[in-house]
Amino acid sequence: MQTPAPFEYERATSLAGAIAALKAAGAEARVIAGGHSLLPMMKLRLASPERLIDINDLESDLAYIREQQGEIRIGALTRHAELLDSELLAEHFPVFRDAEEVIADPVVRNRGTIGGSLCQADPGEDLSAVCAALKAHVVLQGPSGERIVAMREFQLGPYVTVVAPDEILTEVRIRTSPGAGSAYEKVERRAGDFAIGAAAAALEIEGGTIAAAGVALSALAPTTIEITRAEELLRGARPSEELFEQAGGIASEDCAPMADGRGPVDYKRHLAGVLTKRALRRAAARALQTEA
Ligand SMILES: Cc1cc2nc3c(=O)[nH]c(=O)nc-3n(C[C@H](O)[C@H](O)[C@H](O)COP(=O)(O)OP(=O)(O)OC[C@H]3O[C@@H](n4cnc5c(N)ncnc54)[C@H](O)[C@@H]3O)c2cc1C
Repeated sequence: MQTPAPFEYERATSLAGAIAALKAAGAEARVIAGGHSLLPMMKLRLASPERLIDINDLESDLAYIREQQGEIRIGALTRHAELLDSELLAEHFPVFRDAEEVIADPVVRNRGTIGGSLCQADPGEDLSAVCAALKAHVVLQGPSGERIVAMREFQLGPYVTVVAPDEILTEVRIRTSPGAGSAYEKVERRAGDFAIGAAAAALEIEGGTIAAAGVALSALAPTTIEITRAEELLRGARPSEELFEQAGGIASEDCAPMADGRGPVDYKRHLAGVLTKRALRRAAARALQTEA
């Protein structure tokens, strides 16, 4: 089936208006941002919303990358291409540029948004792992106000998040820190494809010791998965090849991949270990550079 089921379409002119429209329409309405996940799903009839609320005219409110109150704040309508090009983001969190360089192609990157990527919650999607490793928080706005949710609590299952039918994800917030370094490693079948497996790592190094660590994997479990045992191992330790090898071993054990057309479970577990180690190695080198 290559055509979507019939639906109504509304173009929001304000954030409040978009939220009101969602509330009025009930559970059968969906926000549309870049449309690069939702439209293919509608064409395949995997999603059949009765009403689409288009938020693309809200760029002045929802498309930005800025530094504020010790955080980098990214508006939900910020496109992949803007995340790729942002020098501010590359300076604080180079993991974004690493990931964006291997997400899809320019056509998708010019339209797809960070908000749509996170809300889609595809287990193989890249930015969820990036934001999980960075311990990001997201801002959700609904009829009764605003709430802030940690990435750790954001996904409820494959393609399911805590975002209520009448809520809109408006912003992603990531705390900045002087000795921070981060990196992304992905293996895909061809350039721009979804990952066979990918690892995001974020470290904060203070006085030669790891003060904070984030490790998250994409496509290696039914959801984005944070490797908390590896994070615990890393915290308080001094960066070394042996340490990163051990953390990779934990990632390999703690991931939960499924066999599919992209590869068998053993291969994916192997990838989890190797990619985690490589991402940690590069994150540490970058952290030590910023610390110096
Ligand atoms: C050919 C192709 C290749 C791709 N390759 C990759 C890849 O390698 N890696 C990767 O990570 N992704 C990939 N993608 C997915 C791409 O990144 C999508 O753009 C992204 O996943 C969704 O963003 P969007 O803005 O298009 O969301 P949409 O399709 O507009 O929306 C997706 C979902 O999120 C909801 N939503 C959107 N914005 C909000 C919001 N602000 N608040 C609440 N709900 C919201 C929608 O209702 C919908 O349920 C690919 C897509 C295509 C078509």
